[in-house]
Amino acid sequence: MITAILPTQVQAARIKICHDCKFYKEQTNSCGTFILARLTDGQKEVTLSRVKDNTVTYYKKKIRLCGCKISEKVKYAWAQCPAGKWPMERVTIEDMERLREAAKEIEAVGSIHTSDARMIELYTLLSKLTGQNIQRTSCSSCIRDLINFALNSTKEFE
Ligand code: SF4
Repeated sequence: MITAILPTQVQAARIKICHDCKFYKEQTNSCGTFILARLTDGQKEVTLSRVKDNTVTYYKKKIRLCGCKISEKVKYAWAQCPAGKWPMERVTIEDMERLREAAKEIEAVGSIHTSDARMIELYTLLSKLTGQNIQRTSCSSCIRDLINFALNSTKEFE
């Protein structure tokens, strides 16, 4: 199964940093004020109404805490600390933006009409994100699943 979930050691290292962070809310196990969220692998639904509560000053810069449940947030390779205390794993923001662009283009024109270079970009970026060797395939439902995974994982990188 394709997944962007990280090994437990990486998750534990992130959690340790969060537990030592002044913005961590122990009561809700969240980064700043908890925002109701449902996180599944690559699928995120966030209630944005309280986001404004989560703007703080950190080293003279305004940053917006995500309000996520830390035990969920730390699982994903594409997640990162809004204060820069722990990074994304395996991928960069640019990778995620390129992955979204590629997936959207393939979804719009169909894999048959997509250039080879674009398809290779999709497989390469998905391999980076998941840490798995995502093989090229001609199975259309498998490609559909990969595109859905890419689109769901990159929702916040529009
Ligand atoms: S994600 Fe970053 S800012 Fe939020 S609680 Fe963890 S270490 Fe602190």
